[in-house]
Amino acid sequence: MENGKCNGGSTVKLPEIKFTKLFINGQFIDAASGKTFETIDPRNGEVIAQIAEGDKEDVDLAVKAARHAFDHGPWPRMTGFERGRLMNKFADLIEQNVEELAKLDAVDGGKLFQWGKLADIPATANNFRYNAGAADKIHGETLKMTRQSLFGYTLKEPVGVVGHIIPWNFPSIMFATKVAPSMAAGCTMVVKPAEQTSLSALFYAHLAKEAGIPDGVLNIVPGFGSTAGAAIASHMDIDKVSFTGSTDVGRKIMQAAAASNLKKVSLELGGKSPLLIFNDADIDKAAELALLGCFYNKGEICVASSRVFVQEGIYDKVVEKLVEKAKNRTVGDPFDSTSEQGPQVDKRQFEKILSYIEHGKNEGATLLTGGKAIGDKGYFIEPTIFTDVTEDMKIYQDEIFGPVMSLKKFKTVEEGIKWANNTKYGLAAGIVSQDIDLINTVSRSIKAGIVWVNCYFGFDLDCPYGGYKMSGNCRESGLDALDNFLQTKSVVMPLHNSPWM
Ligand code: NAD
Repeated sequence: MENGKCNGGSTVKLPEIKFTKLFINGQFIDAASGKTFETIDPRNGEVIAQIAEGDKEDVDLAVKAARHAFDHGPWPRMTGFERGRLMNKFADLIEQNVEELAKLDAVDGGKLFQWGKLADIPATANNFRYNAGAADKIHGETLKMTRQSLFGYTLKEPVGVVGHIIPWNFPSIMFATKVAPSMAAGCTMVVKPAEQTSLSALFYAHLAKEAGIPDGVLNIVPGFGSTAGAAIASHMDIDKVSFTGSTDVGRKIMQAAAASNLKKVSLELGGKSPLLIFNDADIDKAAELALLGCFYNKGEICVASSRVFVQEGIYDKVVEKLVEKAKNRTVGDPFDSTSEQGPQVDKRQFEKILSYIEHGKNEGATLLTGGKAIGDKGYFIEPTIFTDVTEDMKIYQDEIFGPVMSLKKFKTVEEGIKWANNTKYGLAAGIVSQDIDLINTVSRSIKAGIVWVNCYFGFDLDCPYGGYKMSGNCRESGLDALDNFLQTKSVVMPLHNSPWM
């Protein structure tokens, strides 16, 4: 192999696949059609399991269960404190099953098992705890009316039945990002996991039941986007759809919502995030951040720093370091603890990334390292870096969602800002510099929902993130996330005979 080191595999015992059916009204059941689909191990392209394939009829059934649980069940009526208690129990069970859940995401999505154990699954449990803690602090406010004769206050009420449509790149974290705040708000829901990675969502359903979350609150309908996903987006009895995925599908969801019952829509979409490295940066640290930002989770992350801009004074040195580090990155079995990068999620994504690499070469960008598939089975790709990239190239404009970096040199701060903002997306950005004035200027000039300074992926449960421009229309994480699942009701009454306002 020319670039990226490969390791020898692993000895971790693979997970037993226990849950493959739809989860509706507290029961695992077959799809109405009886159909199933294959879920594939991206390490070798082999079938892991057959999953029940949900479609419109199954979505209808799941929505009925969620609607009944919302209109007549205990969940939205119990105190936030009690909901929080059950959510904390759910979090306890997630923590007790960290290994199993990390294995499911590794075998289903090619995600590093160690990272799953140390980061993704603990973060999933913590998300339920964070929102459990918020559940009893949701309240409206007393209004200071402009008319002396009226008294008014607001209630924050759950939005109703929510449809969650999630992507495959962070199956557990995305599940918690959607489900935890909507549960805390008192909503009931239908979740459609991505067809590539349904296994952990079904395991979470089993744990939710064990935790005592009432039947009908959480329903899971695995299936394809154009069938099960589209049925959620256009359903007349879903009050809100919360979607994370590509900008193209986000547009379809909005259209379906508009054409059906005008349901509320939250979108978390794609990105093409810039990392700006300024002349005063530490070369080694900057190269490390660029590598992390672009290649973490094999580049399958919406906030990836897939466009790296380096100021001309240190450009050559940063490039040299980056290429050296990329060549030394260990690509291999996600269960092997020495692996730094696993396989892409599936054949389609693998081929899409390779075709972008071909585009880059054909459009005249210079390939500095990588550019090829690794091995003859599975979906492994070398960490790939292009330079001499111009604005009109596809690899500069499109979200590739793979381990492919576009590098560009800039002269002045203004030029760096201009390049950074030169995209239809606005999800995230990074700045590497020690100059506080420069950092303040650049962070305020960049059109993105989150800006990381001298770090990358500085996510925190308390820190909202989301898109500017075509990267989305809401904020997830933090207390802001609750607003996606609440609606405000004003209650107004006459105030008789009081001299007090
Ligand atoms: P995708 O848009 O193809 O699919 C996402 C989900 O939508 C899947 O569950 C899929 O089945 C479903 N879907 C597909 N077509 C649908 C339709 N017509 N109606 C309803 N549902 C449909 O995206 P993907 O390839 O699975 O994920 C990668 C994308 O997700 C990238 O663009 C990435 O940036 C984005 N993403 C964004 C964030 C964020 O927080 N902003 C996080 C992770 C991923």
